[in-house]
Amino acid sequence: MALKKDIRSLSKEELRSFFTSIGQQAYRGNQVYEWLWKKSVHSFDDMTNLTKEQRAMLADKYVINHIRVDQMQRSSDGTVKNAVRLHDGLIVESVLIPTDTRSTACVSSQVGCSLDCKFCATARLKRMRNLNPDEIYDQVVALDKESRHFYGRPLSNIVFMGMGEPLMNYKNVVQAVNLITSDDGLGMSPKRITISTSGVPKMIRQLADEGLKVKLAVSLHSAIDDIRTEIMPFNAKMDLGQLRSSLEYWYSKTKSRITYEYVVWEGINDKGSDIEALIEFCRFAPAKVNLIEYNPIDDGLYVQADDQVIKAYVKALESNGITVTVRRSRGKDIDAACGQLANKSTA
Ligand code: SAH
Repeated sequence: MALKKDIRSLSKEELRSFFTSIGQQAYRGNQVYEWLWKKSVHSFDDMTNLTKEQRAMLADKYVINHIRVDQMQRSSDGTVKNAVRLHDGLIVESVLIPTDTRSTACVSSQVGCSLDCKFCATARLKRMRNLNPDEIYDQVVALDKESRHFYGRPLSNIVFMGMGEPLMNYKNVVQAVNLITSDDGLGMSPKRITISTSGVPKMIRQLADEGLKVKLAVSLHSAIDDIRTEIMPFNAKMDLGQLRSSLEYWYSKTKSRITYEYVVWEGINDKGSDIEALIEFCRFAPAKVNLIEYNPIDDGLYVQADDQVIKAYVKALESNGITVTVRRSRGKDIDAACGQLANKSTA
């Protein structure tokens, strides 16, 4: 039997044409589109303003490949992690990170990852496939529901910092952002969305041209090529020079400040020369540094540098006029923190 097509791969226009092609009115396409996105229904039977015949006809021809939250874990600090089952049985994870004033959704863009960052759990799973736009959208909807349920407020922010490299699934991530921000979807402001990349220069340029108005975060971790290549081997092919020029382009086009994510490890990037290189890298475009706490994923190969070194980073960055925040990890007890996704629930 031929596989039925996922109805959410159709645009609103395509849905309208589908109805006219079978001799029915185009506005039925608008109704279906609204059920699929704004109302996020899982079944054709829920589309109550269509006739029974229309619902049956759609179910005969199409499927709605909705995600399923298989397991939800809640951390002692309030962080929520969802193990999300996709229609083909693969699993990704997404995380809700509440603070006093915000609810941030951290979503996955790929099953596994094709990059090879030595310190990241997701990198150990090979990339199985890209997520479709609806699979990214559904993660946001699920976390929004949980935020309303547990914290009495909708999501305030979305970060593409879950599993995968969003810029290696460029088209689907852009489409997901368009759906999330559209009035036909969730109507969220793009300014509240951050795409985090390990630094793919060609795609950063494309994103700059896209005009999405999202924020950009770059997982830098070192501003010295040899060191960065050691911890993020793909840097041998996409080095800091290329990264820098793509970011100059990003800033010239968007005028949007860049965030650098940075972990400080003992014996890797804990020297004065590392700090100087980072400060230098922050000069060519307005930048902010997030010093992220390391979440160990292995047998002690990488160890977070001690507080003195972190303080030295903060002091040097601040005295050079660069905004820096030190981010404490959230959700560690349920393996929901940065770099831990895929540790347990997909093992
Ligand atoms: N691929 C994207 C998004 C996923 S990773 C990217 O690289 O930006 C989200 C963030 O977690 C990145 O900044 C990444 O460098 C960081 N990270 C990965 N493993 C980590 C770990 N074990 N501890 C702390 N941060 C980690």
